[in-house]
Amino acid sequence: SAPSAAGGLVGRLFGRAPERAEEPRRALDDAMLEELEDMLVQADLGVETALRVSANIAEGRMGRRVSSTELKELLAGEIARIMTPVARPMPLYPKTPQVVLVVGVNGSGKTTTIGKLASQFKAAGKKVVIAAGDTFRAAAVEQLQVWGKRADVPVMVAAQGSDPASLAFDAMTRAEADGADLLLIDTAGRLQNRQDLMEELAKIVRVIRKKDPSAPHNTLLVLDATTGQNALSQVETFRKLADVSGLVMTKLDGTARGGVLVALADRFGLPIHAIGVGEQIDDLDAFDANDFARALVG
Ligand code: GDP
Repeated sequence: SAPSAAGGLVGRLFGRAPERAEEPRRALDDAMLEELEDMLVQADLGVETALRVSANIAEGRMGRRVSSTELKELLAGEIARIMTPVARPMPLYPKTPQVVLVVGVNGSGKTTTIGKLASQFKAAGKKVVIAAGDTFRAAAVEQLQVWGKRADVPVMVAAQGSDPASLAFDAMTRAEADGADLLLIDTAGRLQNRQDLMEELAKIVRVIRKKDPSAPHNTLLVLDATTGQNALSQVETFRKLADVSGLVMTKLDGTARGGVLVALADRFGLPIHAIGVGEQIDDLDAFDANDFARALVG
């Protein structure tokens, strides 16, 4: 279920000769390096990361003749090296309820991800409560209720347009009273008015901290992997709005190009807690650096 659209990345540098008994080889020279850099940029790694990865591959190997298989292995190794430190599941803390604030632009997959997370944690024996903190979007609240039913997890809602912070406070009270292990809080994702959103998120955090100074324990930023380089600016934006502790990358199924994950890991080093690989409740996987690297290289 790992991304594959960038597959054949390396193959394209060599051309195809399936009938030949021996694999074609090419000298690792400036021309080839430049092609490699271009391919990596096209695969969404971003210029900076593409240059660094290419330089690491070239180091000590210039002029050497390499086969497609060798180059694939080198490239997969470089990518896995960047991705391994960020491939970390969301940490679970002894303090309960563990408060997980979920942020991201509308459409990134927040609601869906919360539903999937609730289902996974429930299956792992955790007691989960969801708070529908995007109180302005009626559709988001309804969707979250649908996911809550699917996951068999209670969803706290408030009247449309009411204060998300007071909902968060009520949800904390409920989660504590229920002896819940986890409270997943959805938030608004309208970036049109950043000042409003920043104040809204800050107020939610302030109110939660009145109940538990150590909360929120996680602030997950949900990013749509198909938005390519946009994901980078979304991280920059949301890090100013909230204390982002980890990422969930959605829509890595189908034709999604996953190259931007390498750029994200290289630039920010934020843990990738999970990847969304479809629209169904079980379509949330742990992020595996080696599988990812192999799939990306093709
Ligand atoms: P929100 O506005 O951030 O809450 O986003 P939603 O959770 O409503 O998701 C927006 C759209 O993306 C919906 O149509 C979801 O079914 C879809 N979606 C979410 N996650 C994934 C995923 O991992 N893969 C695919 N293919 N679609 C997804």
